[in-house]
Amino acid sequence: MQIEILGCSGGIGGVHRTTALRVDDDILLDCGTGVGDLDEAALARIRHVFLSHPHMDHVACLPLLVDTLFSRLQDDPLIVHAVPGCLDILRSDIFNWRIWPDFLSLPNPDRPVMRFEPMEPGMRLDLDGRRIEMLPVRHTVPAAGYRIEHQGAAFAYSGDCTSNDELWAALNAHDRLDMLVVECAFSDDEADLARRSGHYCPGLLAADLEKLVHRPSIGVTHLKPGEEAKVMQELGRCMPDRELRRLSSGDVFRL
Ligand SMILES: [Zn+2]
Ligand SMILES: [Zn+2]
Repeated sequence: MQIEILGCSGGIGGVHRTTALRVDDDILLDCGTGVGDLDEAALARIRHVFLSHPHMDHVACLPLLVDTLFSRLQDDPLIVHAVPGCLDILRSDIFNWRIWPDFLSLPNPDRPVMRFEPMEPGMRLDLDGRRIEMLPVRHTVPAAGYRIEHQGAAFAYSGDCTSNDELWAALNAHDRLDMLVVECAFSDDEADLARRSGHYCPGLLAADLEKLVHRPSIGVTHLKPGEEAKVMQELGRCMPDRELRRLSSGDVFRL
């Protein structure tokens, strides 16, 4: 299994792209602005999008992706997986004929170019041997993370998340975790804002990682532009014995 970081920033500008990860060449975890760097052939190979939640930085490229691939998707629709609350928001607030056409009913409602597949935390899906499980997380809107297992190797992605017990319990229920991509949007100076906006800061993340029985390599994502070095320094101070890495667009991991 290959995991490619297309975008992992909290913002845009210069090299910054918002959240999107590509698993092999056919699955996206979130659909932020990093997706816009893929060429048309690579876009056409994407069959499934697993969304963590409906915030703009995670879905910005989804409406444009479906539009770009419209003619190719008529025989084989793009499948979007997310919690029901997230899909409801996309339907009412984006694919509503005002912000963007309703691609769930185009070119006709019986054979749309995009299909929504609701998923609940704990549900698992098998896609060509890659076992994808939705994980419970805590954010300000309906949200989820994902764990993907392939040939014994396991990867997990938190999406946007703040302090909770459920995510860590769900990961501990398995006997292996090789790599974790987890957000840390704020520095400890903004711990109160992190908590209120449903994000981690280094102190909150270090406390939660104590709940995890596994020792995965950890990729840190969703850093605020300009704050990256500060947040990484704080993380290093909180967790000197953890294998922590600041992710960048273009990073590729093979598990
Ligand atoms: Zn969010
Ligand atoms: Zn976000």
